Amino acid sequence: MPESRKIAHRVASLRPSATVEMTEKVRAARASGRRILSLASGDPGISTDPRIIDAAHAALKAGDTRYGPVLGDPKLRAALAAHEGRRSGARYEEADIIVTPGGKFALLTALMGIVEAGDEVLVPEPGWVSYGPCVELCAGKPIMLPMLDRIDAALIEKAITPRTVAVIVNSPVNPTGRVVTQKEIDALVELADRHNLWIVFDQVYSDLVHLASFPTPQATAKGRALTFVIDSFSKTFGMTGWRLGHLAVPPGLSKPISRFIQHSIYCVPGAVQAAGLKALEIYDEVVPGYREVFRRRQREAASRLDAVAGISCAAPDASFYLFPAVEAEDRALAARWLDLHDVASVPGSAFGSAGARHLRLTVTASDEEIDEALSRIAAAGVA
Ligand code: PLP
Repeated sequence: MPESRKIAHRVASLRPSATVEMTEKVRAARASGRRILSLASGDPGISTDPRIIDAAHAALKAGDTRYGPVLGDPKLRAALAAHEGRRSGARYEEADIIVTPGGKFALLTALMGIVEAGDEVLVPEPGWVSYGPCVELCAGKPIMLPMLDRIDAALIEKAITPRTVAVIVNSPVNPTGRVVTQKEIDALVELADRHNLWIVFDQVYSDLVHLASFPTPQATAKGRALTFVIDSFSKTFGMTGWRLGHLAVPPGLSKPISRFIQHSIYCVPGAVQAAGLKALEIYDEVVPGYREVFRRRQREAASRLDAVAGISCAAPDASFYLFPAVEAEDRALAARWLDLHDVASVPGSAFGSAGARHLRLTVTASDEEIDEALSRIAAAGVA
């Protein structure tokens, strides 16, 4: 018998999420009466379209209140397969799509399916804060690989050991907003194929790309056979609280992978999936507008930040992030801006060592709030 009750090391040892911690800090400061201008939130700040809300309402009223299919509503899965085909040209069948409660759970589902205890998973950084912890939850070992502005196949190859099973690649990248190039994707697929690795490709910002094309590993048959795709409704449609995403798996893998879903969440609520189906229906009507707002704000904010001594900032090709380089220690600077100027940001080093001396800023607040935050930054400076 253990001497005292305790929390399992597996969970107790996880690093808290720096972005969630910042969100909590902002919430606490606001609760104490301070007016905080936040350039820290990864929530797009879009109100869910009323038609999406009505669809969920209607589903509930029509009695969609019971357990549903484990893999998700076949209509939604078919619509997601078609959506992916339109965007990347990758051919997916409904059978290869698993509906999940958000992209984060799609990531955990993929990793649960491929990582054995002690297996290594390569994670380029700076990268999203949950990759390492999700690998650890699966008893795997995340191997962080600093590569700020590129996916360097040669560096990835050097890190491969007999225990390596997968590489997690995110495009557009949180925190930088960068879109991974076709050349990088091709090199990655070739490498994964040669070393028998899985690619876990996180494309939750793929609907917010400003370029004409969006390179993905699943676009070729070779890449499609070794890639798990993580996607989400959260950022595209302002649906972060609905918890709706999906995992697209290599052919034939949805059944074995779905055992994890069966024994954990069972299914995503039917009304939430009905909302997702409606969201995809009105995609062309709403998403280009959201994308344009972020693009305009990114450009305006980047040029104002770049004009501040000690900050250099370019607008990225996607998302709602900016990742300016700052001539200062990033954690100290973020703390100073919050404590003295009521402006919230996330230090770049929260996303890995390669993010040091950068800040992650978002353009998800209102135009007025962003404007005021940028004025305060210009007055505060970085020194
Ligand atoms: N992947 C990346 C890169 C993210 O930034 C996020 C959220 O911030 C997610 C996945 C997960 O989003 P959700 O679980 O809301 O779909």
